[in-house]
Amino acid sequence: MNRSDFYARVEATLDEIRGEGLWKTERQITSPQGGSVTVEGVGEVLNLCANNYLGLADHPDIIEGSRRAMDRYGYGMASVRFICGTADQHRLLEREIADYLGTDDSILFAACFDANGGVFDPLLGAEDAIVSDSLNHASIIDGARLSKARRFRFASRDIGDLRTQVEAARSGGARTILIATDGVFSMDGYIADLGAICEVADDYDTLVMVDDCHATGFIGPDGRGTPSLHGVVDRVDIVTSTLGKALGGAMGGFVAARESVVDLLRQRARPYLFSNALSPAHVGGARVALRLARQGDHLRERLRANAESFREQMTANGFELSGEGHPIIPVMLGDARVASEMADRLFDRGIYVTAFSHPVVPRGSARIRTQMNAAHSQADVDRAVAAFVEVGCDLGVIGR
Ligand SMILES: *Cc1c(COP(=O)(O)O)cnc(C)c1O
Repeated sequence: MNRSDFYARVEATLDEIRGEGLWKTERQITSPQGGSVTVEGVGEVLNLCANNYLGLADHPDIIEGSRRAMDRYGYGMASVRFICGTADQHRLLEREIADYLGTDDSILFAACFDANGGVFDPLLGAEDAIVSDSLNHASIIDGARLSKARRFRFASRDIGDLRTQVEAARSGGARTILIATDGVFSMDGYIADLGAICEVADDYDTLVMVDDCHATGFIGPDGRGTPSLHGVVDRVDIVTSTLGKALGGAMGGFVAARESVVDLLRQRARPYLFSNALSPAHVGGARVALRLARQGDHLRERLRANAESFREQMTANGFELSGEGHPIIPVMLGDARVASEMADRLFDRGIYVTAFSHPVVPRGSARIRTQMNAAHSQADVDRAVAAFVEVGCDLGVIGR
């Protein structure tokens, strides 16, 4: 009885998801990830929804670096890091990441989801508090829950409310307070004001943690991320980020911080201690990706130009956009059905975009989130805008 009830409940939940129009389907790509991709049964489409900001996902040097690492170290490590899973290249990559971001050291995880899942519990106890932006990534929310620290939430990017919540944590007797924020809010395309956040941190003597997944490699000088953009590299205590976006787009995450913090995470972070070491191919590829990103001013310039052009043209055509100064450019549509209909029609015209609606974004603020990348040409951007204008007119989103 109980067991069949369980499966009936699963079916009912699936029906509910379908009924609310929230079912996510996965299109199948049969080419490398790139400015354009081939989709099974459809053909080539311009890709405006990848996190492939620098266009490195199919870079031949990265593939070669990855292949060389496999030739030398084999396919898998078959161990967690502390037993027999640490290759010399793991430590090299960790030091190279730290050098790039301006921290003492860094520690690799299988993904940034794991880095965020493992970073809080070893560092903070029940006497401590995490003050977290309300729009922070799911993995920060989960990671904070896995720690015993008290949790406070401030209205996204609202520095006044941040101050209020830090004061509440302090008057509640918190020993250490850590302010946690995304460097870039990926649903909206806004960059966190780390300058203002660090001022609050100074006023109350708190720690600062930044998740820079949508910034590492392409935001700030040399692509060193949002702390560098805001000139607060030395004030930010902990940076977490991913190798799965601008830095080649494969897999892996890391925490970059002071040596003592990295050392303690190596001893205590559960996703590090109880999960396999990053594979040789991923480490070898990531090292090349990091080098290409460091030297990638031409890629960052192309990315910036594409984002600026798309934003300008879309605004001139009457679309309402969110975000600022970032290649995430959400086209705000409000109604979930309009957003998903628009995404479908754009796809039919060879433009691959994704609609986001509740519960990923607040109800009534459905949108199509576009992401520019350095593999797009000006002609690609122009073609995307033309398709948006055509479909936008048909659906009455913009006037003719
Ligand atoms: C993508 C993302 C993550 C997860 O990174 P993975 O390496 O894919 O697990 C975490 N935080 C933020 C802000 C992200 O955008």
